[in-house]
Amino acid sequence: QVRVRFAPSPTGPLHIGGVRTALYNYLFARKMGGKMLLRIEDTDQNRFVPGAEDYILESLRWVGIEIDEGQGVGGPHAPYRQSERQAIYRAEAERLVAEGKAYYAFDTADELDAMRKRLEEANAPAAQYNAITRMQMKNSLTLKPEDVKARIDAGDPYVIRLKTPRKEEVRLNDLIRGWVNVHSSAIDDKVLLKSDGLPTYHLANVVDDHIMGITHVIRGEEWLPSAPLHVLLYRYLGWESTMPQFAHLPLLLKPEGNGKLSKRDADLGGFPIFPLQWTDPFSGTVARGFREDGYLPEAVVNFLALLGWNPGTEQELFTMEELISSFDIAQIHKAGARFDIEKAKWFNHQYIRQRPNDELAPAVQQQAEANGLICSTEKATKIAGLLKERVNFAHELFTEARTIFYTPDTYDETIAAAKWNEDAVRAVTVFRDALQGFDGDFVADTIKHTLSDALQQAGIKQGKIMQALRLALTGSGTGPDLMLTMEIIGKDEVIKRLEQALE
Ligand code: GLU
Repeated sequence: QVRVRFAPSPTGPLHIGGVRTALYNYLFARKMGGKMLLRIEDTDQNRFVPGAEDYILESLRWVGIEIDEGQGVGGPHAPYRQSERQAIYRAEAERLVAEGKAYYAFDTADELDAMRKRLEEANAPAAQYNAITRMQMKNSLTLKPEDVKARIDAGDPYVIRLKTPRKEEVRLNDLIRGWVNVHSSAIDDKVLLKSDGLPTYHLANVVDDHIMGITHVIRGEEWLPSAPLHVLLYRYLGWESTMPQFAHLPLLLKPEGNGKLSKRDADLGGFPIFPLQWTDPFSGTVARGFREDGYLPEAVVNFLALLGWNPGTEQELFTMEELISSFDIAQIHKAGARFDIEKAKWFNHQYIRQRPNDELAPAVQQQAEANGLICSTEKATKIAGLLKERVNFAHELFTEARTIFYTPDTYDETIAAAKWNEDAVRAVTVFRDALQGFDGDFVADTIKHTLSDALQQAGIKQGKIMQALRLALTGSGTGPDLMLTMEIIGKDEVIKRLEQALE
């Protein structure tokens, strides 16, 4: 059975790229009838941000990604927070030491610095603490066993490092990128267990993926350089035969393709689902989020799903169910995906226009209220129906409806110059008169008949005066269906506006 995991570090609100990673894992799990796990990778105490875990859970919930097992849900491998699993990682690290595949290292920061300097001066290769240099350092490969024991007993700080082989080809067959070959000389003797007793990301990640029975590791491309090290770890830990398959997702790029989209690119959409409630010491408060900006979850999901994948058809709009049934790792692209927030708006527009009017009405009412106006549910619902084709976000409905809420105080001068003529004045006058005697249901249909009857009697061609009538009513030469607009404005206000225009 397929088992995938989303393994975020709680270092801030979930970045939009992280949401895409979670989504692809979810789509794959559902497609394959497998399980989706959530594991919190919080072993880097320095980068821990309180509250971030809740943000992650809430973000996933909001976009509709359901977790089958893991943090917040429970399951047979609990706890799913790595900080609560320290003993497991330590035991594995010590097993590697006992088997001669890892070693204790006691070097101080100064000693490591000095080594780095020496190597830099000598134009050293990529890996620094390696099969050669390790022999000059203070570790359990160079110190006498009794000294090692004495240091550990005395509580001297130490780390456990992987004893990376000197000359070995490390290979992995990434489901997206194909074969990746790395020579082990490019891999450092990576720290597995830190001096604070906590594992590094690499050790904890591999140990947990193994224990939790993960079959596929689907994650961002930024982790590809770590993958060979992970392969080596699986081998050393004796788990190579059940090693998960890897799929490294393409980077999210800025819209021009000039570099990675980062969380500092807020103007380009590099913001999280929800804004931070705390001040991020690195970037200041990020005040924007997709939810706060008015995006609908289904639009965000649809947009993200197509950033790096598509099913090879022309279809652009997908429900979650449709995404699940068409998702295929083989169709994930290698090349980076350009993140274009304008496209996200387009998706939102598509979903806004499909929304039932009564679900959009509250947004109109809230904005009206914020502007000191009262708007009935009935009126708000009609406004939503009239204008939803014209907006990307629900909160734009009110702005779009300004001409409905407010009597015009100015009139478009170009239109006035071109259209406000004798016929127009006559038309507005006869229409006003007809409305004054009108006592039926004031709805688009009856308004339309009243207007055409009045114009016919006065011998005025409707086509010639429609723009002038719109101008009289709204101050503008363009807008949505005028009969519906009048219905929503209401009879008394319509008469008032016609009179004002005639003054
Ligand atoms: N904790 C890592 C992250 O924050 C997980 C990477 C992985 O999926 O292996 O992205």
